[in-house]
Amino acid sequence: MRRISIFGSTGSVGENTVDLLLRQPAETRQVVALTGGRNVARLAEQARALNAEMAVTCYAECHAALKDALSDTGITVAAGPAALIEAADRPADWIMSAIVGAAGLAPGFHALRHGTTLALANKESLVTAGPLLMAEAKRHGATILPVDSEHSAIFQALVGEDIATVERIVVTASGGAFRDWPLDKLAHATLEEASSHPNWEMGQRITIDSASMFNKSLELIETREYFGVAPEQIETVIHPESLIHSLVGYRDGALMAHLGAPDMRHAIGYALNWPDRADLPVARLDLAAIGQLNFHAPDPRRYPALTLAREVMRIRGLAGAAFNAAKERALDAFIAGEVRFTDMAQVVEAALSQLSSDSGLGNAPSSLDTVLEMDHLARQRTAEIIRNRATRN
Ligand code: NAD
Ligand code: MG
Repeated sequence: MRRISIFGSTGSVGENTVDLLLRQPAETRQVVALTGGRNVARLAEQARALNAEMAVTCYAECHAALKDALSDTGITVAAGPAALIEAADRPADWIMSAIVGAAGLAPGFHALRHGTTLALANKESLVTAGPLLMAEAKRHGATILPVDSEHSAIFQALVGEDIATVERIVVTASGGAFRDWPLDKLAHATLEEASSHPNWEMGQRITIDSASMFNKSLELIETREYFGVAPEQIETVIHPESLIHSLVGYRDGALMAHLGAPDMRHAIGYALNWPDRADLPVARLDLAAIGQLNFHAPDPRRYPALTLAREVMRIRGLAGAAFNAAKERALDAFIAGEVRFTDMAQVVEAALSQLSSDSGLGNAPSSLDTVLEMDHLARQRTAEIIRNRATRN
């Protein structure tokens, strides 16, 4: 019987993971821990349906409500960031890391100590602490499996191949909500407009990050850190249909693509069943009905985040932690209506340039704490930059 935990079970990736688990015979798995946020009713429902040992909300103020919702069960209830670590310390064979943002780093990092298989949807873990995370997995004989659809596609296109024969990796991008908007309209994009994705059903934050392509910029860094290829080997192409999830090009010129419906249960299911393949409840592609697939190069004026990602990959060290934290803080400000859509990239660029001149951005992270310190500092600096812009305007 496999012991399974889901961090961020109430989110978009979390719900898809729960869906797949509920389709498996109950006697094949023991669910150890489920974690969520304010939606305690849903968390409690999942914990009952999966007969989990433990349910954790990351918010201390939601503890009582969760306890209440599970009072007639034997399920252990806990709350707060320390409880997330406690949940990660409960040995499990397979753990889904699907918390959104840098908050997902610490629980996944801790779980690696138990030699677990970590299914990593939380791309921020690799962006902020890639070398540390990969080294920790190696030290403890743990396995990290990519769950981001692009990285799952790349991983699958690499099966049986020698990474040394890879010439390039092509990461596809839908182009997000504004791919066809006139450039001069972008500054006035509303939160609602930025929160709708043309192809994928996802959490709000990653949906907005898809419109700005901050999501793709995180994914380029994720590619660099997970697969260990040089930044020059990583390309991006806009592919509006989102049916090719990414491609690997080999030195003989062969290009291996992974195609599938835009449904995260593909990538989650692959990680869940790896190294085997199992039946998955996803739509099958009818290529004749689809007729054609389109591609074009991303315009750097529309997607300045992509240029920033190149700079972050060049500096490496703590630049990923700073970049992600600045991006998260700028996104908070956009969601709160404090900055415009196009301001986000400008604010992140300003924060990175400030930090690179005085904060040892290029230093390799020596511990999780150094990463979290840089995260904290970058959020502070970004908040200051946003405040200063507001008073200037
Ligand atoms: P979401 O917003 O739908 O869900 C996030 C989950 O994390 C929820 O369970 C929430 O309660 C929890 N959470 C939020 N803040 C937290 C905090 N501070 N501490 C602990 N828990 C917290 O997010 P999502 O769209 O499912 O994305 C999750 C992760 O997977 C992200 O890193 C995202 O980039 C990545 N990802 C998502 C998709 C997708 O289809 N949604 C695809 C690829 C990668
Ligand atoms: Mg992705």
